[in-house]
Amino acid sequence: MKIINTVTGLKKQVKVLKLSPLGFVPTMGALHEGHISLVKNATKRCPLVVVSIYVNPTQFNDKDDLKNYPRTIEADLALLKNHLRKDDIVFTPDDREVYPAEDKRIFSFGNLDKVMEALHRPGHFNGVGQVVSRLFDIVEPDIAFFGIKDFQQVAVIKSMVRQLKLGVRIMSCPIIREADGLAMSSRNRLLEKEIRKKAPVIFKTISKAAEMICDNDIPEIKKFVKSSIEKESGFRIEYFEIADDTDLVTISKKSEIKTGKRYYGCIAVKAGNIRLIDNIEIPLV
Ligand code: AMP
Repeated sequence: MKIINTVTGLKKQVKVLKLSPLGFVPTMGALHEGHISLVKNATKRCPLVVVSIYVNPTQFNDKDDLKNYPRTIEADLALLKNHLRKDDIVFTPDDREVYPAEDKRIFSFGNLDKVMEALHRPGHFNGVGQVVSRLFDIVEPDIAFFGIKDFQQVAVIKSMVRQLKLGVRIMSCPIIREADGLAMSSRNRLLEKEIRKKAPVIFKTISKAAEMICDNDIPEIKKFVKSSIEKESGFRIEYFEIADDTDLVTISKKSEIKTGKRYYGCIAVKAGNIRLIDNIEIPLV
């Protein structure tokens, strides 16, 4: 694999190789098997793959979160070396390469930016729109790979691609979990030991919630999710919502379910000081 940290260097290398489809996996580093699953999907489909590692400041609404975000570049490169081929590229730009001038663009994501994560992380998806569109400009991929772990982000990026009429296909990939069910996340390594031990309660609870849809309506399911998570000390739920995967319309009664749509139960939990998100598809009854 090649490690490139400038935009001109990257563009030159991609042009020289002229391989298509060009696959792209954007990440913020602190890589784990979830990221690697995206890389594997990309190398399976694309003769050339670019993996970017860049912690984007404009998507952090919380300055401490940005400061504490794990940065493990040496370990990341060592891990990627096992999965990338000779010509594949790891792109590690700095802030000046990504934002040569301040990015003042304001995106309009409609309802996608009014529910769930958006209510708890103001400005987050605008920052995601800025960085992903800028990286798409730089890399010019044919296919970009994203994890459904960031459920709302996938919908936002698909909407951005439609709005900007970009010629990139967005592929969403399944959530990779630890053996105990906890969704892999770069933030998991920041969890205190006692909190980490109890963290599987999140997936266990939303799995049960998905089963409950057969015999219960949504208020009962929400009540169950909140009480199951918050009975663990140090765990506080920010939201649990059931929403469709394109317009992210959150529903409060089963009668609001629309046929032909897929629904996901989406959760954000404060586990100690660390904020975790997860989701599960809700089978329709
Ligand atoms: P991040 O580095 O957190 O910005 O994540 C980079 C990409 O990896 C995003 O598309 C995430 O959705 C995806 N990702 C993160 N965690 C997982 C996971 N546990 N399983 C699958 N994809 C993931």
